[in-house]
Amino acid sequence: MTGDLTSRRGLLRPRELLESIEAITPDFMAARNLRGLLLDLDNTLIPYGSYEDRAELLTWAAELRQAGIQLYLLSNAGASRARFWLDKLQFVGVGMAAKPFQRSYRRALGQMNLTAAQVGMVGDQLFTDMLGGNIAGMYTIMVHPLVNNSLPHTKFARRIERLVLRRYGHDWYGKNRR
Ligand SMILES: [Mg+2]
Repeated sequence: MTGDLTSRRGLLRPRELLESIEAITPDFMAARNLRGLLLDLDNTLIPYGSYEDRAELLTWAAELRQAGIQLYLLSNAGASRARFWLDKLQFVGVGMAAKPFQRSYRRALGQMNLTAAQVGMVGDQLFTDMLGGNIAGMYTIMVHPLVNNSLPHTKFARRIERLVLRRYGHDWYGKNRR
């Protein structure tokens, strides 16, 4: 890898920015030659901290699976929260993934039996999901967080994310956003 973190091909740069995961369809995957997805949990699939059912999420996942796409949950959430959603969604995957560290990314690729180039990493945070996915050589897809979470360290991280994304030419958290 060359260049610093925010260079044109920098390690923080998402390959693509989407409003939500619903934009990821079998056609979207086929057009990018992707066969699997690593999915962040909190604020990507499920509102931060929520345990409420999301029927539309199950429909979305079923459609991708029918097209032969492998779905793997890669979450930094605690083990019991991750377990709850793994059971509910019938996904393979792990909690306490320690993104952006590479160990859990490598293990996921091994379990999916895919190469990094065949896998998309989907998440709402630059410094965990996108950084780790880019280091691993995956196709990184950033989605807008489902809810605004007001923890001070998250607010700080969002401010930094906004600066980085502006540098890439994206007004992702513009004034008119929630
Ligand atoms: Mg998240």
